[in-house]
Amino acid sequence: MNILNECVGLGVDLVILGLCVREYMHNKKVTRLLKSAPQYNIDGNLRSIVERKVDKSIPYAVIRGTVTPMGVPLRSTLVPSVSGVLQIVKLHEHRVARGFAGFWMEQRRLLHTSANEMPFELRNQQHGVEIVDALNASVLDVDVVYDSYEPSSLSAFDHIFGFFTGVRQKGLQTTEEVLREGSFLTAIGKLEVDGNTLRMQPSQEGGLFLTTATKSAIVQRFEDAKWTSILKITFCGAVSAILIGLIVKKLYRKRKQQQEEARIHKRLEAERRERRARSRPLTLSEDQLCVVCVTNPKEIILLPCGHVCLCEDCSPHIATQCPVCRGKIVSRSAAFIA
Ligand SMILES: [Zn+2]
Ligand SMILES: [Zn+2]
Repeated sequence: MNILNECVGLGVDLVILGLCVREYMHNKKVTRLLKSAPQYNIDGNLRSIVERKVDKSIPYAVIRGTVTPMGVPLRSTLVPSVSGVLQIVKLHEHRVARGFAGFWMEQRRLLHTSANEMPFELRNQQHGVEIVDALNASVLDVDVVYDSYEPSSLSAFDHIFGFFTGVRQKGLQTTEEVLREGSFLTAIGKLEVDGNTLRMQPSQEGGLFLTTATKSAIVQRFEDAKWTSILKITFCGAVSAILIGLIVKKLYRKRKQQQEEARIHKRLEAERRERRARSRPLTLSEDQLCVVCVTNPKEIILLPCGHVCLCEDCSPHIATQCPVCRGKIVSRSAAFIA
């Protein structure tokens, strides 16, 4: 009876369950923070509202405005007609690799990424809030302005080499994402007054969101994610419960079987003892009797000391030392005294 498979399955399932619970807690926290985050208009009053707060900052606030570069906007490297304030160029390798059980699987691997950003603000007419550290936003809605895939031309040698190494390149994909100037965004993060400027940066509690969606759509997105996490937790929990049930059932059966074996063993032993007692001579002198029970004849020789001092019934209870000379018992055998 082997419970190793079930235990390994249970371990993996518990790890996944732990990750799902963590994801759920994160989504729950972000949903709560987002729901409680106040929304402000970017206008002449905003600075005085923030200045009145403790530390001249609001830990989690929602603002909406138009992306406006503070200076000359960045020009897209690959599509020069596009300009923006933030640019991310990524190079991905598409390949097939021999994976689990020898199957070839498609993989996409990030080879290189380069990002560029410039100071910018969200504006509403003549008022604006500078956005700081936008590249570290946990949600960043940017436009993909360039996406090109170049299939690799492989020689016969590459195919053979790929077969042995287990990895074969299929092609390279280059993408460029730009946060365009003039896009209308919702920003959620820590709002503070620093000297003369109003700025927003990632909040310690929930990061920074820069998204084209409204606050309610974002909240809905996290609510949905929360429910997906609950479904995953329920599923993993059910799998764990089934596996624990299987393990308990197997252990219970094993214990039952051991008890049954012990009972049979005891009965056979008793029967053997009875048979031996019947075949023993009835009259024995004292020096012929076992030194432990002083009832049965001496029947077992202990080695290497060579003492014949135990009967067959007492022998199993004397495990390590000869009762006569205290010598170590290495082996024992039946002794026949003729
Ligand atoms: Zn005895
Ligand atoms: Zn001895």
